[in-house]
Amino acid sequence: MGSSMKLTVACRCNGVKIELTGSPILVSVCHCDDCQRGSAQIERLPGAPKILDRWGGTPYVLYRKDRIRFLEGRELLIEQRIPGEKNTKRLVASCCNSPVLLDFEPGHWVSLYQQRFDAPVPQALMRVQTRFMPPGDPPEDGLPRHRAFSFGVITRLLASRIAMGFRRKDSALL
Ligand SMILES: [Zn+2]
Repeated sequence: MGSSMKLTVACRCNGVKIELTGSPILVSVCHCDDCQRGSAQIERLPGAPKILDRWGGTPYVLYRKDRIRFLEGRELLIEQRIPGEKNTKRLVASCCNSPVLLDFEPGHWVSLYQQRFDAPVPQALMRVQTRFMPPGDPPEDGLPRHRAFSFGVITRLLASRIAMGFRRKDSALL
């Protein structure tokens, strides 16, 4: 995947469209308690799509904030926050209640909901925060499972921050 690669993310009704340039930082399924609550909150909106897998996982594709460009419908995005979560907002397309992305505001990356990608969909590399996974049969998809964040996640985030340069304006998305 080269730096000129372009992928598109769209809500279900195509009212919101986002273009992504280059390779993602990481593709992972997050099982943390906040993402379980946040995804469940969006799933309860009228007509919203299913987000969580049967193990409470939300699949995300992480991109640098300077590699994301709003093509259409930016004004349709609304913020969803869960109680007690101060620095994180989830942007939902108000036209069809599709989740679009999660923004950890101090961070230099966004986490896009994997279900919103046009083909080719980047495949998940790992499951993280699996200590929050509900009891029962674990997934047998061959993905490495990390009880918290893996060293690989932190390394990739740091490497992408360095590659981005240290321009402060890049951490402001919306
Ligand atoms: Zn829509």
